[in-house]
Amino acid sequence: MKFHEIPGNETAISALVKMAESGRVPHAVLFYENEGGGGFALASAWVQYLNCEHPENGQACGHCTSCLQMAKMEHPDVHYVFPIATGDVIKPSTQHPTASMALREFRAMALQNPFFKEQDVYEAIGVESKSGLISVYDAKEIIDVLSLAPVQNGYKAVIMYLPERMNAAAANKLLKLLEEPPAKTLFMLVTDNPEDIMTTIFSRCQAIRVLPFSKGDALAGASIPEEMQEICNRMLKALSRKDLASALDCADEVAAVKSREKQKSFCIFASRQVRRIFMYLQKLEDIAYFDGVSDEDLKGISGTLSPAFCSSASQQLDRAAMLIGRNVNAKMVFTDLVNRLYVKM
Ligand SMILES: [Zn+2]
Repeated sequence: MKFHEIPGNETAISALVKMAESGRVPHAVLFYENEGGGGFALASAWVQYLNCEHPENGQACGHCTSCLQMAKMEHPDVHYVFPIATGDVIKPSTQHPTASMALREFRAMALQNPFFKEQDVYEAIGVESKSGLISVYDAKEIIDVLSLAPVQNGYKAVIMYLPERMNAAAANKLLKLLEEPPAKTLFMLVTDNPEDIMTTIFSRCQAIRVLPFSKGDALAGASIPEEMQEICNRMLKALSRKDLASALDCADEVAAVKSREKQKSFCIFASRQVRRIFMYLQKLEDIAYFDGVSDEDLKGISGTLSPAFCSSASQQLDRAAMLIGRNVNAKMVFTDLVNRLYVKM
């Protein structure tokens, strides 16, 4: 994957190229993508650029040994990690399953569509959605892989898709390595849920925002009705000043809307806002960008909210969207949602 094959994201790409040229390459980078798409491609393109033998004008050459290996996802110094579960590919009887056991299927999927989403990974390895985990066995494998000398002259890299799927044991095992990695070692983490990543991991990474570029993603962003955005911002503001009555009024307003699709879009928008608040609270204002809310509003909403609240709120909002999709009574869903958010304040 070369930079020019990734639509949009000129700002992020030129920042990455500058880092490479200046020799100040951070050893851990978190690529924060928008609900799937682009982060993995960008991380791969950067590793390819950094390891290219003849980079030119901000692009990898595409035909040196390293580029050819990267194009096939077969570079000996690049290790891919992604959430897995046992199923069709990794049999349930497997002891200590790791992502490398499903690498062939992951590779085939990612080569066909480098802009994949989480669900695509699960389909490729034949497991149920959202069931994937990055376990302590993966962490151990990463440590082992990185302890070996590089095969080639460039960087050794771990490209980890969805670090938020690491359990605590795995994350803790990797902390020291993330803090003091061996020379010329890179961690490229790709996430669409930064608020679910353990703060100890998050704080060790430099974050790069990956903007949506596909028509579908852009439309998904644009199609959220203004009235839903307005109610959502009002509800978050009410919650941040612990005004339960006003927040419940907002829940009633959403429940009264005569469209399940609009109600779902409310949940999607609220989830994005929560993510944005999270990035803001982590002092990453520059990459906390989303449409439909002014900086002043964001400050107001973020007031008393904590990163822990954002993490829990994001799960509650996903749950609400799922229930709305299943035709559960909307008034019940949104009242329950506000109550659940309120107790997490
Ligand atoms: Zn090259």
